[in-house]
Amino acid sequence: MVKVSRIERNSIADELGVVPGTELLTVNGRPLADFLDWEFLTADEELVIEARQPDGEEIIYELERLDGEPLGISLEPPSIRRCANRCEFCFIEGLPAGLRKPLYIRDDDYRLSFAYGNFATLSNVKERDMARILEYRLSPLYVSVHATNHDARKVLLNNQRVPDIKAQLARLAAGGIQFHCQMVIVPGLNDEAVLEESLSDLWNMGDAVLSAAVVPVGLTQFSHLYTGKTMDRDTARAILEQVEHWGERAARERGETWVSGSDELYMLAGRELPGPEHYGEFAQIENGVGAVTSLRMRVSAGLDRVTRRDGQRIGVVTGFAMAPLMKELLAKLRDASGADFELIVAENSLFGPTITTAGLLVGRDILTALGDRHDLDLALIPAETINEDGVFLDDFTLDAVRQSLPMPIFPSYDFIDVLESEASGVLA
Ligand code: SF4
Repeated sequence: MVKVSRIERNSIADELGVVPGTELLTVNGRPLADFLDWEFLTADEELVIEARQPDGEEIIYELERLDGEPLGISLEPPSIRRCANRCEFCFIEGLPAGLRKPLYIRDDDYRLSFAYGNFATLSNVKERDMARILEYRLSPLYVSVHATNHDARKVLLNNQRVPDIKAQLARLAAGGIQFHCQMVIVPGLNDEAVLEESLSDLWNMGDAVLSAAVVPVGLTQFSHLYTGKTMDRDTARAILEQVEHWGERAARERGETWVSGSDELYMLAGRELPGPEHYGEFAQIENGVGAVTSLRMRVSAGLDRVTRRDGQRIGVVTGFAMAPLMKELLAKLRDASGADFELIVAENSLFGPTITTAGLLVGRDILTALGDRHDLDLALIPAETINEDGVFLDDFTLDAVRQSLPMPIFPSYDFIDVLESEASGVLA
């Protein structure tokens, strides 16, 4: 059963008299378990929908619609499938107590992998789910492989009952499903020979594996694996060498890089990031693969839209990871705008000093970084630090932080979004 949350006015559903709160039970005789069933079973033009109205009365809607005509029904959000693993490196395990509840949800949901690109391990996928993935052709899926070696994967996921990922992927691939894969590397557990085996196995799956990303583990000060240090430079370099070996082979034989180290891995290795051609369509940019290169491209492309701000002093808050790369970007922005940009590097007070990603800075960090900076005309903060409701991970709201600071602050994805001429009224 799925429940209606909203009906679009003047839509087919509106004309039929469907109201929010209605439970949708079957479509053309097939029961509805979730939004996926609804999406796929309502693709037909002729539909017989059994439903239960909010007053408990059951009703059958029969309708015919033109190809692609929307029904006008929005569903209540699905209940998220929980994770069956206890990964040694789980970021959620490494969250401090007292944050808002949704942050502690360990989702591991192939449906969200297909719908939103969330990574899933497929550990909790049952036979029925495999059949659905194949029947509905849920492709591509985003899969946290971590290691194709079964024994290594059991240790990494801390789950003795984890299915064999190679067999799962092979079966799905045979049914036409493709994957974007990631390996989060925990040195000593899945680097070196285990990583080599993983890359070799994924490579041998051919076109089924669209891309592979290799990401260094990020441990907060609350993780039991925490050592107080980030991955060391030599380890990051060794991992990158393996990755680049496969990437070069892929470029030669398939015409695309196929596998990439994340931006953070390059930074830990002290290596310059590759150019745009390396990332192709930036398939794993949300996973921190190519995000810096994309940012550089967007800044370069947007400089002619930046308005002059001669004499202004603009603070730019970031984490330690991005700091070395910012100098060059801020110089370009200075030349384009005439403003004086100052890089302000903030430490993460919530997760500890090993978490250096700008997007994980919290409200308190912004307050600490900018609280006494009366000399700044305005400041830019990473837009990824707040959610769609304008709330930081530590529950500070953007409004509250703004009210406590001596200058206006603006969340920004690429600087241009705030500094371009359209925003000049906001900044005046
Ligand atoms: S799969 Fe692992 S990392 Fe992801 S939520 Fe589950 S335990 Fe955490």
